[in-house]
Amino acid sequence: MLIWEPLHTPWLIADKLDSFKTFNLMIQQNTNNNLAAENAEQLELLSICMAQLNDVVLITDARPSFEGGPRIVYVNEAFERVTGYPRTQALGRSPRLLQGKNTQPGELMRIRQALDAFQAVRVELINYTLEGQEFWVDLDIVPVKNAAGLCVNYIGIQRDITEKKQDQALVEQLAHHDALTGLANRRLLADRLKQTLAACARQPVYCGLLVIDLDNFKSLNDTFGHAQGDALLIEVACRLRACVRDVDTVARLGGDEFVVLIQSVGSDPAEAASNAETVARKILHRLGQNFTFEEASYHLTASLGIALFNSAKSPMDELLKQSDLAMYQAKAAGRNTFRFFDAGMQVMVDERSWLGGELRQALAQKQFTLHYQAQFDTERGLVGAEALLRWDCPGRGQVPPAVFIPLAEQIGLIKALGNWVLEAACETLVHWSTLPALSHLTLSINVSPKQFQMPDFVQSVMQCLQRSGARPDRLKLELTEGMLIHDLRDVNTKMASLKAQGIGLSLDDFGTGYSSLNYLRRLSLNQLKIDQTFVQNVLTNENDAAITRTIVTLGQSLGLEVLAEGVETLAQKEFLISIGCHAFQGYLFSKPLPAQAFEAFVTLCD
Ligand code: C2E
Ligand code: MG
Ligand code: MG
Repeated sequence: MLIWEPLHTPWLIADKLDSFKTFNLMIQQNTNNNLAAENAEQLELLSICMAQLNDVVLITDARPSFEGGPRIVYVNEAFERVTGYPRTQALGRSPRLLQGKNTQPGELMRIRQALDAFQAVRVELINYTLEGQEFWVDLDIVPVKNAAGLCVNYIGIQRDITEKKQDQALVEQLAHHDALTGLANRRLLADRLKQTLAACARQPVYCGLLVIDLDNFKSLNDTFGHAQGDALLIEVACRLRACVRDVDTVARLGGDEFVVLIQSVGSDPAEAASNAETVARKILHRLGQNFTFEEASYHLTASLGIALFNSAKSPMDELLKQSDLAMYQAKAAGRNTFRFFDAGMQVMVDERSWLGGELRQALAQKQFTLHYQAQFDTERGLVGAEALLRWDCPGRGQVPPAVFIPLAEQIGLIKALGNWVLEAACETLVHWSTLPALSHLTLSINVSPKQFQMPDFVQSVMQCLQRSGARPDRLKLELTEGMLIHDLRDVNTKMASLKAQGIGLSLDDFGTGYSSLNYLRRLSLNQLKIDQTFVQNVLTNENDAAITRTIVTLGQSLGLEVLAEGVETLAQKEFLISIGCHAFQGYLFSKPLPAQAFEAFVTLCD
């Protein structure tokens, strides 16, 4: 252990590190009790100098790590001043007391490796004061060896470089950010885009570059002055940031030209175009809301150009050119809108938008009908039907439900559409109840997850049954596994109340979603419908056959009826019977038929 005695050696301050080695030798002489009076004076002077230093000096012993590592044996006054630790609290403790949550593990590792090899090391480290305040230090650690060459102490000298680090951060900020808005500048955007392109090369997923130009900024700037113009640009920056995720980059390239880089918008072109469209619409909507400064209110619009990419092939300049071109097309199209660079994507988005408009009208103009597909049971024959929605769009013809149902969900029409189906199904049930050949049939309707999640879903089903006079035990609701992943308790409550009224509950497309045996046990289900993709391959694909077998066994053990959908051949039907599945639906029996054709079909079956 090092014994601290005052010493006079003024020249030592100039070169601290070397001086400490000398200093240590002197101390050793001191411990031998052979200190000359001259050395005693030098020690005293050294002590005073150490106290005067602005740099923190900390001396530890050289205790090995298996004994808990070095302990502090000396600290100077600067240590107390800078760290806030009184000397008495520091002595005997590990220098780790200065470390905290942001202290860099990599730098600590370098220190440990150097100490293990008894070597000097220099690091830049984040330390913490007693109060928990962060500060940066440039730290030199030097091992001190005794006359026998054994390492007996380490001397640490720390210079506070917090200001230097703050300056560096400021320089960094200025070099990569737009001074007015704090958004990324062209350089940072280029960096981010480079990283994104590199990521695309590893895993091709679509990303988007959106160029946004304010439509009437110049005239606003000229009319109201630059100070107002600047305030407006700052607000635009805030709104743009609020429209995207943290992983995306919002940049200002100058004037009123903004660029947004959006990451991972989809793995296929349709999904990517649809997601980029959502972002574009959100931006147009946010920027279109009035800006108010000092009681004056401004209205802005913007034109947006979108380039989507999913490979590293197009360089940044090319992508910027593409979105710029698309942005000018948006301007040419009357401003306050967006355009894709890729014509195919634009067609896709336009088409969807057109179809959405048509769908809104379709409800009012009664363009929907229900078709009915028979459901059979080996014991009882025809037991029911599934109602499948059909849309005959004028000028377009039949639009498949796989296209318009998701669209209705996206544009908020699913509740109205679902209610229409429910009412039409109830009317059908009432009509069937008057026909002896059909009065025993159940009718299944498909319920979209968004529709089921509506708080008043159960109520609207009950009201519809009451209004129409249809029997609840003739109605069956087909739910999908997707809706079960949201708030299981709410799903459970709704299902229990529906079942309590006698309404049947079926799980459609079973086997394709996130099945969990746990929820199957807890839910009030009556039926599992094996998804048609398994049924169609039962004779050709071992895996699909095994899954089908498992679903049948599962249904049996849970006391649920199991119906196979999409049965097209006699051989499939026979296989299904052989594994214990006795209810079927599919082209083998009948395609979905319009109301009258279905009635005729039932009469034929009778
Ligand atoms: P889903 O409920 O699984 O309906 C079965 C689909 O398989 C129907 O397609 C039906 O026509 C088809 N299908 C039936 N038997 C066979 C067969 O043997 N072979 C083949 N290849 N296909 C068969 P559709 O009518 O095009 O409906 C597709 C999906 O659209 C339905 O799948 C359902 O999820 C949804 N959908 C239909 N109507 C409605 C509705 O009123 N509301 C809601 N939310 N969704 C509906
Ligand atoms: Mg169905
Ligand atoms: Mg299905």
